Amino acid sequence: ERLLEIRKQNCHPMTMKVTYYRQPVFIHQGHMQWLWDVDGKRYLDLFAGVATVSVGHCHPRVNEAAVKQLKHLWHTTAIYIHPQIQEYAEKLVSLLPEPLKVVYLTNSGSEANDLAMLMARLHTGNYDIITLRGSYHGGSPMTMGLTSRTDYKYPVASGFGCHNTMCPDVFRGVWGGSHCRDSPVQTIRECNCSAGHCQANDRYIEQLKEMFDTTVPHRIAAFFGEPIQGVGGAVQYPKNYLKETYKLVREKGGICIADEVQTGFGRTGSHFWGFQGHDIIPDMVTMAKGIANGFPMGAVVTTEEIARPFGKGLHFNTFGGNPVACAIASSVLDTIAEDRLQENCAMVGTYLLTELAKLRDKYEIIGDVRGKGLQIGVEMVTDKASCKPLSPEAMAEIFEDTKDMGVLIGKGGIYGQTFRIKPPMCITKDDADFFLAVFDQALQ
Ligand code: PMP
Repeated sequence: ERLLEIRKQNCHPMTMKVTYYRQPVFIHQGHMQWLWDVDGKRYLDLFAGVATVSVGHCHPRVNEAAVKQLKHLWHTTAIYIHPQIQEYAEKLVSLLPEPLKVVYLTNSGSEANDLAMLMARLHTGNYDIITLRGSYHGGSPMTMGLTSRTDYKYPVASGFGCHNTMCPDVFRGVWGGSHCRDSPVQTIRECNCSAGHCQANDRYIEQLKEMFDTTVPHRIAAFFGEPIQGVGGAVQYPKNYLKETYKLVREKGGICIADEVQTGFGRTGSHFWGFQGHDIIPDMVTMAKGIANGFPMGAVVTTEEIARPFGKGLHFNTFGGNPVACAIASSVLDTIAEDRLQENCAMVGTYLLTELAKLRDKYEIIGDVRGKGLQIGVEMVTDKASCKPLSPEAMAEIFEDTKDMGVLIGKGGIYGQTFRIKPPMCITKDDADFFLAVFDQALQ
């Protein structure tokens, strides 16, 4: 009660509200996909500290790597060369395609995106940056300009030169419907069939071209895009959308930045990086969250050419490349490979998407089920005909009931209308079944 009172009085370095209002959760301990509260109640964690605990809470191998490094060396700053930083940078770069090979280590996703904005502007000499509606790219004053939802922004923060443009949200968009009518689990974003409703995606590309011809500044610095939107509610774009966007952005003199803060490190199942699912190679990739399983860390990886003007300055951050962070991040990469977590994301994710699609057909208030791997969104509506977002009160009831029955999920979307499922990548099919039964009951 004392902790809750302190939090209510806002004596906490966050303005973010406590998630559960009926009975807030006081977390005490975590192991892999499980969390325990102070009373010993166990929860299946399907939100992973906002898609961050990638390999599992207190994963034994990662813990061991952290403790080993803690006994050895905590901190030097990058003014000295220590093996952890070199080894980690090499390991990370080996997972990215050429010519992405220059690594800057940061402390968070916002700091990575801040740095990416700066580097893009220095390299191109242009200021304007394009992002998509529904995107989230950070909470620092600079990155608030990239983030689209107004309730994440403060009017005095500098969004200078940042333009949030339309988002080709297939479900909410004007073309209607998100699934191929011939296949309930095949989203039209990925469908190759020639049916007219799937081909309608081409019209988004036409709209995009029109926007680039008429409303975007003559020359731009960069385009920022999440391969699948995270906070925006697992929004996926039509096939080829990012590919076409990259082409148009480059014609306008800009560079293309993939924000992999949520989609990186195997979460989408089919690929290690979300951008690989779009058949594109970005000029810069930003990452954080899952990079170190919850230990504060982020990174920017770019090309030598783009890094050159930035390298002429004296950029410094005290904690970037901290030996403990690097040891943990390195162990996370080993764990993803050794525990076959990317494969697990594909397997459990496909199962969840298929089973959730059945719930969508059963309940009038589920409008859309989408995502890839373990980056899943369930968009809630008042009814399928109008597709109006379900009220915040009704969303809260389902959310709270799900928690009371022992499963923690997330919420997102531009109206807060989408449940988000982004668990540690080690969850099993049995865990998925437990969640599906609980969610079904909460929906009833
Ligand atoms: N990019 C994306 C896609 C994110 O989801 C977030 C965090 N929600 C950020 C950037 C910012 O990361 P951080 O909170 O570590 O600053």
